Amino acid sequence: MSRFFDKRFSELEAYTPGEQPRDMKYVKLNTNESPYPPSPGVIKAMAERELSERMRLYPDPECLAVRESLAALLGVGKDELVLTNGSDESLAFAFMSFCERGVIFPEISYGFYKVFAQLYGLNYRQIPLKDDFTIDPDDYIGTDETVFIANPNAPTGLFMPLCDIERIAASNPDRLVVIDEAYVDFGGESAIPLTKKYDNLLVIQTFSKSRSMAGARLGFAVGCADIIRDMNTIRYSTNPYNINSATLAMASAAVADNDYYLDNCKKIINTRTDTTEKLRALGFEVLDSKCNFIFAKHPLLDGEAYYKELKSRGVLVRHFGSEKIRDYNRITIGTPEMMDTLLKQTREILGAKRG
Ligand code: PMP
Repeated sequence: MSRFFDKRFSELEAYTPGEQPRDMKYVKLNTNESPYPPSPGVIKAMAERELSERMRLYPDPECLAVRESLAALLGVGKDELVLTNGSDESLAFAFMSFCERGVIFPEISYGFYKVFAQLYGLNYRQIPLKDDFTIDPDDYIGTDETVFIANPNAPTGLFMPLCDIERIAASNPDRLVVIDEAYVDFGGESAIPLTKKYDNLLVIQTFSKSRSMAGARLGFAVGCADIIRDMNTIRYSTNPYNINSATLAMASAAVADNDYYLDNCKKIINTRTDTTEKLRALGFEVLDSKCNFIFAKHPLLDGEAYYKELKSRGVLVRHFGSEKIRDYNRITIGTPEMMDTLLKQTREILGAKRG
């Protein structure tokens, strides 16, 4: 830390992104990226000459074309939507904008919530999950703090029914409920339609997972026009050009190619079912995931040792060291071939263990 660093941040524990290793080529199942390429339309948009020529100009700060087409796809108004640099930026804006009375979120969830709470100097409480790793909606009722819930949750992959989200939002119209739907396209159900009924509900999604655009950094938030206006006040006060021209061009094509992504999601869901069954047959305990990853542990394998052993064999998964989940690994769903490699290596690791 330099002597210039603001003391407010001296205790800040920054978010640790998943490894993006360069030492060798891994079967990469550690950061929940899509194994499938962006749609043909997106690839074409990236190669357009007109796009390179446009690079000398600033991008449209209103992102109007993409907002209009995405709003039409989602069935909301274009003023009920804001585009951000990844959904992390939507979350950052929400933590910055709406959390004066503090925040609550599940103890086991996306690690960035705690980082944002600390960064913005907010009071925060982390609510334990139930023993089966589900979220108890009653824990979020009867409080005044802004709620952040990932649904489906990460890294568990478990989905909370929309009726519970609705109960939490309806229980206190004067505090905001933020639903992070980064993984909702893999079998969950979006709360976006509920934003019409509840003006204290904000739903955040991303193009990083189901739309194969993690590298382009595009996320969005949907809520009533007043909330979105507030987020734009913060956006224009930090980085009005938060979405670059290349990402805007790709996003328009991605929205137009929605069927391609729906198809990919189906493939990923099928591969998830198949991998879950095969891991369970090997003795793994695998939670019922509605995400493009699964969360799994094995009675004979130490979580960290299994992660390390897989890595040495060229398969990268994600292990979290915190106490309640250290027996588990989070495994992204790749192509069937990638999962075959994971399963083959796992069988060998188990075989060596059993002797
Ligand atoms: N929410 C959750 C639950 C996530 O796992 C992630 C990805 N790490 C994000 C939000 C942020 O994703 P992005 O910024 O790529 O949209």
